[in-house]
Amino acid sequence: MSANIVFIGLGNMGLPMAQNLVKAGFSVSGHDLVKASVDKLVEVGGKTEADSMAAVAKADVVITMLPASRHVESLYLGEAGVLASAKPGTLLIDCSTIAPEAARKVAAAAKARGFEMLDAPVSGGTNGATAGTLTFMVGGSKEAFEAAQPYLQKMGKAIYHAGESGSGQTVKVCNNMLLGILMIGTSEAIRLGMANGMDPKVLSEIMSKSSGRNWTLEVYNPCPGVMETAPASKGYAGGFGVDLMLKDLGLAVENALATNCAIPLGATARNLYDIHSMNGAGKLDFSSIFNMLGKAQ
Ligand code: NAD
Repeated sequence: MSANIVFIGLGNMGLPMAQNLVKAGFSVSGHDLVKASVDKLVEVGGKTEADSMAAVAKADVVITMLPASRHVESLYLGEAGVLASAKPGTLLIDCSTIAPEAARKVAAAAKARGFEMLDAPVSGGTNGATAGTLTFMVGGSKEAFEAAQPYLQKMGKAIYHAGESGSGQTVKVCNNMLLGILMIGTSEAIRLGMANGMDPKVLSEIMSKSSGRNWTLEVYNPCPGVMETAPASKGYAGGFGVDLMLKDLGLAVENALATNCAIPLGATARNLYDIHSMNGAGKLDFSSIFNMLGKAQ
């Protein structure tokens, strides 16, 4: 395959995503502030260059996977950034989770310079990134969405066009706010049942076949011992960290303020995860919020 891909941001998510593109036969130049991460991409057949913007200047596709809005804004909009360095026709895909407003701002600046840009945040965590089974929620033009298919399909299995620029980030914010709320609700329900002497396994099984059923109850149960494969049964290690959930709920609260939208449960969920994080649980899986609602198991 001939496309020249530059991948910037080789962290927990970006590295396995870039590795999957290398495995698929693409020429991938990887860049990160942490050299060890770049080395890991080179080990599986990727390339790198000392000057990342010199690599961007030769790229057909630039993919970024960065921590937050400010990193994306400075990398793309900076004086010697991606927009100033890329050649005409380069397709720009940002997979980071950032504010919808920031995604719209960067996409508008890209458009003003003649570039097609997609916001393409993901769901599926590090396991999905490694397995190449991520869900992509994509905002941008239909043409750019079609042009991105060969790359996104090597990193994910469900790829949705959500609408215009910023829509991918909007879906991501709504989804993760709902997930955070559901995890707290499920934890509360199980705690209440246990306080009444119920076996949490029996309770979860019955609720899973009743109207309270949801993903956190059926697939990712927060009570230790109910589901062997869930982080709750492994000391809440791995999975999706409390601090990452806190970041996404912060994006929801910011967005709700900007759009004058009431999100009473989303805001409460953000505060609960914030307290949980301040109590030292930031690196644990977000299902550990179960422990805030009762004695640790
Ligand atoms: P991470 O912190 O592990 O990786 C981010 C990487 O970006 C780091 O290696 C950092 O060194 C690099 N970086 C920052 N600024 C840079 C720059 N200017 N140039 C080059 N490299 C730069 O984070 P992650 O867990 O990989 O998450 C990345 C994004 O994906 C975040 O927006 C996160 O919210 C989102 N996300 C994460 C998960 C998850 O489970 N980890 C799931 C879905 C979405």
